[in-house]
Amino acid sequence: MGRGKIFVTRSSMPPIEEYIEEIRPLWESRYLTNMGSKHEELKEKLKGYLGVPLMELFTNGHMALELTLQAMDLAGEVITTPFTFASTTHAIVRAGMTPVFCDIRESDYTMDPERIESLITDKTSAILPVHVYGNVCDTEKIEGVAKKHGLKVIYDAAHAFGETLDGRGVGSFGDASMFSFHATKVFHTIEGGAVCFPDSELEAKLQELRDFGIVDEERIAAVGANAKMHEFSASMGLCNLRHVDEEIEKRKKVYERYLERLRGIEGLRLNIYNENIKPNYSYFPIYIDEKVFGVGRDEVFEELKSKDIYARKYFYPLTNTFEAFHGKFDASETPIALRVSKRVLTLPMYADLDLATVDDICNIVISCRK
Ligand SMILES: *Cc1c(COP(=O)(O)O)cnc(C)c1O
Repeated sequence: MGRGKIFVTRSSMPPIEEYIEEIRPLWESRYLTNMGSKHEELKEKLKGYLGVPLMELFTNGHMALELTLQAMDLAGEVITTPFTFASTTHAIVRAGMTPVFCDIRESDYTMDPERIESLITDKTSAILPVHVYGNVCDTEKIEGVAKKHGLKVIYDAAHAFGETLDGRGVGSFGDASMFSFHATKVFHTIEGGAVCFPDSELEAKLQELRDFGIVDEERIAAVGANAKMHEFSASMGLCNLRHVDEEIEKRKKVYERYLERLRGIEGLRLNIYNENIKPNYSYFPIYIDEKVFGVGRDEVFEELKSKDIYARKYFYPLTNTFEAFHGKFDASETPIALRVSKRVLTLPMYADLDLATVDDICNIVISCRK
């Protein structure tokens, strides 16, 4: 087809001149990291854009999440989902706690709130759900259970940048929400991340923990890490933020084309956003029911690959089946997540994906059907 390799995602880039202008003052100031003016400017602009009261920036989303768990002084067990990226589960384990896996909902792949209560023990300290593919969790039910049992709720909102639920920024729910600004995400700072939270006491703790626990020159009050966002990343963020609405508009066109072409194909289930969500079109997952479609996910994946289209088995494998946790968890306790992880395929989705390529991808997928 002569279009080269198509990957599942492709980073958005601002015009190069715009980035150069953004970083030019750094040659003068020589202030390259440690919460410089670009960092502060980005933080303020993002708070406004995301509609959140408080926020701290980090070197990546993972450290934002891990240090939030540490800052909240949590211990024991955290109820979470295995249908996520390694980071979510790793953050819990690396913060010294035990993940307890809750199954997901068939409808939108987010944590099933009806199953949370049966997993609560006297060791449970928090719930860590994920807004999978930009589908927003049932925040009302989850937070209802949390309130009843005195648990914290920390959302992994890595997929949900800029989304709103009933007009309210997704980052404003629960006790904290983590966003990832990794190069592959809807909005990026090359590497980067943030955590949003309503409690002002968390602010100072997070600031300390991301800078070795340093309070001032002579006081180191906690065993922190180094997780500061530097000025070149913040500058990339300032540029990308100016274009992000446009980027989301372009993603929407790709999403609509996929829907138009794949809707109604028997054996395929598409990701339809709930009406009360303003989506960011971060991913385009399809669920392939082999019994109806005639072939399974892995065959469609291979067929696309043979035509230089690199879709992703995302999320697969489930985090509770990782070799790193060998013998610790039993994925049969999350049967829906296990089934979905074996059948889901995320198709290429990014702002600059041209619609003719989307048509090619759809034609290949449809041609696999038996
Ligand atoms: C990207 C991602 C993360 C980690 O973010 P980084 O910025 O890459 O550290 C965590 N959770 C989910 C669901 C993600 O997609």
